[in-house]
Amino acid sequence: MKCDLLIVNATLLPEPGRGELQDNGYLAITGSKISDLGPMAKLAGNVSGRQIIDVQGNLVMPGLVNTHAHGAMTLFRGLADDLELMSWLNEHIFPAEAAFVEPEMVYWCSKLAAAEMILAGITTVADGYFHEDAAARAFAEAGIRAVAAQGVIDFPAPGVPDPVENIKAAAEFIEKWQGANPLITPGVFCHSPYTCGPQTLARAKELCRAKGAPFFIHVAETGQEVAQLEKEHGLTPIAFLHDLGLLDRDTVCVHGVWLTDADLALLEKSGAGVASCPESNMKLAAGLAPIGRMRAANIPVGLGTDGCASNNDLDLLQEMGMCAKLHKMAAGDATVLPGRVMLAMATAGGARVLGMGEKVGALRPGMDADCIVVDLARPNLTPFYNQETLVYAGRGSDVVTSIINGKVVMAKRELLTFDLGETMTQVRRISRRVKAAV
Ligand SMILES: [Zn+2]
Repeated sequence: MKCDLLIVNATLLPEPGRGELQDNGYLAITGSKISDLGPMAKLAGNVSGRQIIDVQGNLVMPGLVNTHAHGAMTLFRGLADDLELMSWLNEHIFPAEAAFVEPEMVYWCSKLAAAEMILAGITTVADGYFHEDAAARAFAEAGIRAVAAQGVIDFPAPGVPDPVENIKAAAEFIEKWQGANPLITPGVFCHSPYTCGPQTLARAKELCRAKGAPFFIHVAETGQEVAQLEKEHGLTPIAFLHDLGLLDRDTVCVHGVWLTDADLALLEKSGAGVASCPESNMKLAAGLAPIGRMRAANIPVGLGTDGCASNNDLDLLQEMGMCAKLHKMAAGDATVLPGRVMLAMATAGGARVLGMGEKVGALRPGMDADCIVVDLARPNLTPFYNQETLVYAGRGSDVVTSIINGKVVMAKRELLTFDLGETMTQVRRISRRVKAAV
């Protein structure tokens, strides 16, 4: 077996939620791609490679895909809990952002987020924030795959004091990062239909179309937003986006909690995906996204953690179990959103939402080599009869190795790409300023 990195004695789960567990397997990586996988018997003792990792029966699966986060908001973790969305946003988050969001803060706090995600088995993240250039730099250095989207809002924002310049800033960001680093895909993140006017939204999407870049927007998150759009435009939030021509395959609607049947039909026809963030929706009491109805309509749906100010962690493994249980409880039906559906959503489903379904989210020859090793010798994962155990008993800290784009970025729960101690020292230093100000 000729390759750069060979993982042997693995319990393979090449397509979480779809295929079955395969005992005694191997995975070969050549350069940044998966080159082969199969049963150990096929190797017939021909085990070589520049690097060999014997995982001793542990689980090897594709890395998790986090379809929505604001990495830099690790700084605001625990800053304003137990508040409803509008007072949380207007009285706490927006003022804190105005005071503290600068490139250095975004860099260190995004790096901390990258560490938390890599240590929890997330290998791809779709991030949206201000000063996204600093976030993209942090993600590239950390070695995590990221769709990094520059924030756009019709208010004075960090790095863009005059909102007239917000599309120009996004265009400059895309120009700088497109094709610059194999891990980074630049895009645009419009905050919401209630903080961005119709013109801004249309111009942002026009920019994305011209550049072939993804477009993200928080939409249909709360009942209050629905009421406001109805009052101002006589439309649901989704119909409003549709009327502006914003919905297509390269648009990701974040949250999609309050959706009518007509909204679902619009989404289905457009091909736009949805990033569902159940823990954030629970914490802000925003509501329950109709994941079952979206899936039935073949709308691509992925899972997202959202930012650390509204979750408050970046653990997609726990998010899977939480999401399944929440929907069972709400439906009064224990059969809805089975564990396998959650696994598929957190891997291939999320990749499809981000337009990366051919690249990541499964272990197949030719795909980018993003995979994780889960320690099955943990009390909470013993016995391990089936993959559902991961959903209902797994947590991010069970992940012991993360490989992204063919590179080992975390091994034995140690980050190999950067100095996490230095990053935490820097974030603590910035957090002392926040603490002194609030
Ligand atoms: Zn968000």
